[in-house]
Amino acid sequence: MKSAPFEYARAASLDQACALLALHGDSAKLIAGGQSLVPMMAMRLVRPTFLVDINEIDGLKFVAFDNDFARTGACTRQVMVERNDFLAGRVPLLRHALAWVGHVQTRNRGTIGGSLAHADPSAELPLVALVLGALMVLRSAKGSRTLEAGKFFSGPMSTAMRPDECLEEIQWLVWGRERVGSAFAEIAIRHGDFAMVAAAAQVALDPGGRCTRAAFGLGGVGGTPLAFPKIAARLVGTTLDEKAIDDASSDAAKETDPGSDLHATREYRRHLARVFVARALREARDRALAA
Ligand SMILES: Cc1cc2nc3c(=O)[nH]c(=O)nc-3n(C[C@H](O)[C@H](O)[C@H](O)COP(=O)(O)OP(=O)(O)OC[C@H]3O[C@@H](n4cnc5c(N)ncnc54)[C@H](O)[C@@H]3O)c2cc1C
Repeated sequence: MKSAPFEYARAASLDQACALLALHGDSAKLIAGGQSLVPMMAMRLVRPTFLVDINEIDGLKFVAFDNDFARTGACTRQVMVERNDFLAGRVPLLRHALAWVGHVQTRNRGTIGGSLAHADPSAELPLVALVLGALMVLRSAKGSRTLEAGKFFSGPMSTAMRPDECLEEIQWLVWGRERVGSAFAEIAIRHGDFAMVAAAAQVALDPGGRCTRAAFGLGGVGGTPLAFPKIAARLVGTTLDEKAIDDASSDAAKETDPGSDLHATREYRRHLARVFVARALREARDRALAA
């Protein structure tokens, strides 16, 4: 199918993009890499009458470091983030997760901000943002505001962004480089498909191998990605031994309420949630021990 008719403008600056969004209201949409928006328009699942292209705005494409944060411009291509060694040294979960996002061809065009704004509950980057408590900097003609990832994702394919707002940058807290390990594990029907269930984990260990900090979450088992800060807090002080990991992964799986579809029943998804949280935690622990 072809998309419904629309008008198009290429914004030269973020101010101009925000002005166009303010002018056209609900009927306008930003287009970044087009990897989700274009198929949705072609299937007429969305029918914007005005597209604001943000691909030419250089100020939205960067990777930078500020005190405790790594910052990525919203229109930075996924491949640029995946291949940035300096960033991978500081926020390694991003590289681990990006390896699972579509294919190299889609990552060449797809942007970090586009994936977060699209907010697919099975997508890898929203899960990483939630687990790491990333900060989303939003801009509109009225000004700027910052939302934590936990307040940003509001439901399947929906966020707390207003129609006149543009995601400008994402700030990722750097945990430090000593004895920090992270991992991403998922299962999909074919590699490159959206995950049936995905798990992300990051842990920090003291010199004796005891956990000083842990965060983990799940994708594909609810309307938004899920994080489990209370269960993760119970891992602190343990050596992330098998019992601690088994308890945490079982407790997390019990808190999920996934749906059934033709790919997996609710029970099977919950089983996968337990298996994949355990797998991600073990791998994160082993990487932290080796760091
Ligand atoms: C074959 C294929 C396989 C894929 N597999 C996966 C996968 O396994 N995992 C996965 O996560 N994704 C997958 N994707 C989707 C891909 O990751 C997209 O790149 C991503 O979802 C959207 O990024 P984009 O830059 O292309 O955004 P676009 O498609 O341009 O936009 C998506 C949405 O975000 C909005 N938007 C974009 N940028 C901004 C911004 N800065 N501020 C506010 N709103 C904005 C748009 O208005 C639109 O609503 C796949 C895509 C394809 C084609």
